[in-house]
This record gives sequence, structure tokens and C-alpha cells, in this order.
Amino acid sequence: AKEKGRNDFQIFNSDMKSVSLNRLKLENELRRAIAQEEFVLFYQPQVDIETGRIVGVEALIRWAHPEKGLISPNHFISFAEESGLIVPIGEWVLRAACKQNKIWQNQGFPKMPISVNLSMRQFFQHNLKGKISHVLEQTGLDPQYLELEITESMTMDVDHAIQSLLELKELGVHVSIDDFGTGYSSLYYLKKFPIDKLKIDRSFVRDIMVDPNDAAIVTTIIAMTHHLNLKVIAEGVETEEQLHFLHQNRCNEVQGYWFSPPVDAVELEHMLSHGVPA
Ligand code: C2E
Ligand code: CA
Ligand code: CA
Ligand code: CA
Repeated sequence: AKEKGRNDFQIFNSDMKSVSLNRLKLENELRRAIAQEEFVLFYQPQVDIETGRIVGVEALIRWAHPEKGLISPNHFISFAEESGLIVPIGEWVLRAACKQNKIWQNQGFPKMPISVNLSMRQFFQHNLKGKISHVLEQTGLDPQYLELEITESMTMDVDHAIQSLLELKELGVHVSIDDFGTGYSSLYYLKKFPIDKLKIDRSFVRDIMVDPNDAAIVTTIIAMTHHLNLKVIAEGVETEEQLHFLHQNRCNEVQGYWFSPPVDAVELEHMLSHGVPA
């Protein structure tokens, strides 16, 4: 769902005039941030539920604001999407993520895919395939170690989505559907999309131990992915009970605070060397 214009700068305002003034201010600040590359990536491990090993990481952006410190993506991504600034920001993310993954590989860590969130605008961008291909060449990352996360809303235009996904698959990258279950995916078309993985949204995972409906939804999604030969990862795993439930129901991978929040590259390297906690 679109959280229209929810950002740091608006929260403090009630009247429209200062809202638009602040949007202008935010836009200018974001432009500066892009020019000066005031962003950093944090990384959250994705864990194989059988082995407990880190088998992937999701790259998540933070804005390292010179005065305000680290700003969460929830405070600027939707604005960036509306204003179109998400395109240069998204390109920075893609390049930084591929670069970092290549560095880890060069340092001798086990090879694993890095997941990058693609915004709607990026997905509908002309020559997305060419741009991604260029970044892969520049960074030297083998395409199989890049995973792109799209959301269900991007698959609403079925023909366009299939066309774009086929192009991305030609590159050799992986594609997953993020926040699965929160949108309106047509189950009929799901099998026609050339995708690799579903990410079960954390809103379903949150209540699996208390809400039988959510438990049923999660087990059904997992069973469906096995029938469709897709991999499945559960997001937002915060407790051992949730982990146990997901294991019993044959979920492949898990991601969440139970193992680790998103961390900087140094902390992630520590986990790659010593394993995730618990
Ligand atoms: P998302 O793609 O669904 O990413 C997962 C979010 O859930 C992350 O928030 C992560 O910190 C949080 N999370 C992970 N495990 C848990 C858990 O166990 N419990 C709870 N309560 N939360 C958990 P974050 O990093 O603040 O990112 C928020 C959203 O911002 C992302 O949601 C994604 O939609 C967007 N975003 C982040 N980075 C990028 C980016 O580079 N490009 C684009 N287009 N969007 C991004
Ligand atoms: Ca994501
Ligand atoms: Ca998600
Ligand atoms: Ca989300």
C-alpha cells in the first residue's frame, strides 16, 4: 500500500502550505543526498531453515543525513517514488549492493545472492535490463548472485510484467515477489511469471501463533510454492515459536529480528564468519 507522503518533514506540520514547503525542502535535500551519495546500505541475513546458515542478504537503504543521522527508508522512499527520484536512488542501491557482494566474494566468504528492492518506477523503466546488465559488468558480479525483489502491484499489468521478467531472467538474475499476500496477485498468473521465490509478508508471520487464519494463510502459501516449484522465505520472524512453526511447515528460508535486524557491512561480515545468533 502506498503511504502517501509520509516523511519526517510532514509529521510536524498540519497545514497544507507548510506541507508543500516541506515537500520542496525534502526534494531539495534528497537531490543533494543523491549528488553527494549520502546513502548507506544495511544488510539483513536470510537463513536456510534446515542448516541455519546465511544463504542470502537483503540490502536495505538508509539515508545518512548530515544533521539528522540515519533516516529509515519509510521516511523517504514513498516520496522518492512519487517524485521520480527513486530512479537515481535505486541505481545507487543496485550498484552499491553488487559492489559489496563482489567484495565479499573476493574476501572469500561463501557466495550468496544479494537481494535488492526494485521500485515500481524502476521496474517500468525503459531499458531496465540494459541498466542492470551495465551495473553487473561494472562491478564484475555474476548475475546469479543478484536477486531483484518486486511487489505484487508491479505484476498487475500481466503482459508487461511477464515481458520485463523474461528480460531480467535472460540476464541470469533471480527474481522474488516481496510482501507476498498483501497485494492482489492472481494465482492463475503466478505460475506464468518467471519468478524464483515468494517472500511471505511479515504481517502474516507476526500472528501465526495466535491467529489460526494467518497460520492457515502461511501454510497454504508455503504448500503452493512447493507445487509451483518456487522457493519461499518468511519475513519478520521474531520468535523461536514462529521459526519452529515455519520449519514444521517446510518453509525454505527465514529472515527477521530473531536472527538479526539489518546491520552494516562490518557486522554482516561478523555473522558470515561466526554464524547468526541463536
Ligand atoms: P521490505 O522490503 O519489506 O523490507 C523489510 C523491512 O522489514 C525492513 O525495514 C526490515 O528492517 C524490517 N524487518 C526485518 N525483519 C523484521 C522483523 O523481524 N520484525 C519487524 N517488525 N521488521 C522487520 P526497513 O529497512 O526499514 O525498510 C522498509 C521498507 O523500505 C522496505 O520494506 C522496502 O519496501 C523499502 N526499502 C528499503 N530499501 C529500499 C531500496 O533500496 N529501494 C526501494 N525501492 N525500497 C527500499
Ligand atoms: Ca524487500
Ligand atoms: Ca518485504
Ligand atoms: Ca514491506
